[in-house]
Amino acid sequence: MSRFQGTVPKEVSITGIGLHSGRPVELRILPATPNHGIYFCRTDLPDQAPIFAHPSQVSATQLSTTLGPLGAHVATVEHLMAAFSGVGIDNAVVWVDGPEIPILDGSSAPFVEKLLEVGVQIQNVRRKQILLSESFEVRSGDQYVRYEPWGFLPHTHQPALLIEGHVEFASDAIGRQTLVFPFSHKNFLSLQSARTFCHIDDIEKMRTHGLAKGGSLENAIVVDGTRVLNPEGLRHEDEFIRHKILDFIGDIALLGGQLVGKVTLHKGGHRLHVEFAQEILRRLAQQSALTEPSATLMSFA
Ligand SMILES: [Zn+2]
Repeated sequence: MSRFQGTVPKEVSITGIGLHSGRPVELRILPATPNHGIYFCRTDLPDQAPIFAHPSQVSATQLSTTLGPLGAHVATVEHLMAAFSGVGIDNAVVWVDGPEIPILDGSSAPFVEKLLEVGVQIQNVRRKQILLSESFEVRSGDQYVRYEPWGFLPHTHQPALLIEGHVEFASDAIGRQTLVFPFSHKNFLSLQSARTFCHIDDIEKMRTHGLAKGGSLENAIVVDGTRVLNPEGLRHEDEFIRHKILDFIGDIALLGGQLVGKVTLHKGGHRLHVEFAQEILRRLAQQSALTEPSATLMSFA
């Protein structure tokens, strides 16, 4: 991973359809200074304060991760946030002309492609490293996210963050999948194209609630029992767990630094990911009350 913070060298613009509204969305990503973080601004609501991409700003986690006050919110930020984290962008202002980030193909790949077209401008400030001193987990029924600090050695090629993910679905088309994923910019390229997925019955339910109006086989894998309904099939044999890990990377990107340690993600979801990020912040605050702040926000030597 790059040790330094990054931003876009110039404006990047992306257009697409909102998954839930079905309406066209225009996104503009602009450069920002070191330690600025990621902010979202609604161009259709010019009087609204910018929304900081931070776990404290999450207002909903049903189906996607939503930031900001409902009504002036920005939904479905996770695949864009994962793309930022994956390519090494820490600082940017994202202008969006509606309440949703475009779904594009249901993965992070179109965002990554646009970002890599202009490249990443490396900034002369080190990225924050977030390392906790103790293991913990957040749990909801049989779902959990567990964190373990590990013997991190700054001069080895050991990845800063190792994610072990598990999914289990009744649908045979998904079933059980496990993936051990060492997070790095290079490895992210094998994860970026994994698409979101749902069961065909879920689409009917979402539509009756006025959601997923923009949803189609163009932007999600749709399964029915043992079958994948997309004519082109899967992009990876284990695309489902790859997407779950991608979502997790997008949600913990809200921490604004590189998490260091091992994470076990068992049947994760946006609500649990955000609770995990919020618990990290609570523990970091406790840790820094006990020790020097530099002990909790480490830099690579
Ligand atoms: Zn997703």
